[in-house]
Amino acid sequence: MDQYRVYGNPIKQSRSPFIHQRFAEQTNQQLNYQSELVALDKFVDTVQAFAESGGKGANVTAPFKEQAMALCDQLSERAQLAGSVNTLSFVKGKILGDTTDGDGLVNDLIANNVKLAQQNVLLLGAGGAAKGVVPSLLEQDPKQLVIANRTLANAQTIVAQYPDKPLSACSFEQLSDAKFDVIINATSAGLNGKSLAIPEQLLDKHVSCYDMSYGPSLTPFLQLAHDRQVKKAIDGLGMLVGQAAVSFEIWRQVKPQPEQVLCQLRKEMQ
Ligand code: NDP
Repeated sequence: MDQYRVYGNPIKQSRSPFIHQRFAEQTNQQLNYQSELVALDKFVDTVQAFAESGGKGANVTAPFKEQAMALCDQLSERAQLAGSVNTLSFVKGKILGDTTDGDGLVNDLIANNVKLAQQNVLLLGAGGAAKGVVPSLLEQDPKQLVIANRTLANAQTIVAQYPDKPLSACSFEQLSDAKFDVIINATSAGLNGKSLAIPEQLLDKHVSCYDMSYGPSLTPFLQLAHDRQVKKAIDGLGMLVGQAAVSFEIWRQVKPQPEQVLCQLRKEMQ
């Protein structure tokens, strides 16, 4: 049976085995997908050994996405731009790398009827996740995409990669007079229960809010969005399932339906 893995450290929290097994059932594919905890200095050896043993592909999660990129013989254009890889395919002795987070996010925004074309879009955060989704967001032709980050220099570094695009960087303080149609939280602030120090006027009833984080209860950012009665408040579980769907299609050349799996996963989490 074809073998797949997801590598990370930590990895216990990963929902990817559940998602990929559901996709396999849905599309009648015979495969085995498991999570594997990898020691911080053993990532390269682990992937190479798995590829040599006949493994077909692997997902990569924190903190190995940059190392995964360095390991690849060939990279997709979006992985080169994003500077990270979350999907490895082992084909004829070569390692091919791609990143599916951006398409997972955009597909979930589309599924939730959030329009991006010609809209003012704010991306909060400039870490790996933010950097990874910028190419896919720009492909949707927003009027402007602003990256706001606690450390301004990190946002400026991303912006410098796209000189001809409607993309700019700012600090949270510089947002005090701004208005946006869509706000995407790509910071990790919520993971430790912290709320974001953003001006509350950003969150009005015309704005759609998306938090890449998710959990059994509302994230601090989505709680704030709800309290401010925004138009839409969506968590990142759909992005998680969406990025897995794109990886699955890369490996198996068949498109799974994420909606049903997202419902199952949401039930499981509650
Ligand atoms: P990184 O560690 O690479 O980046 C963290 C980002 O959050 C940085 O921009 C950092 O700012 C900012 N940040 C951290 N704490 C605070 C705070 N208290 N106030 C303001 N900003 C803060 O993490 P990732 O980019 O890999 O992940 C970000 C989030 O996205 C995580 O919650 C992760 O779970 C989620 N994610 C979800 C996915 C999904 O499929 N739904 C996929 C990938 C990620 P600074 O630069 O100043 O340090």
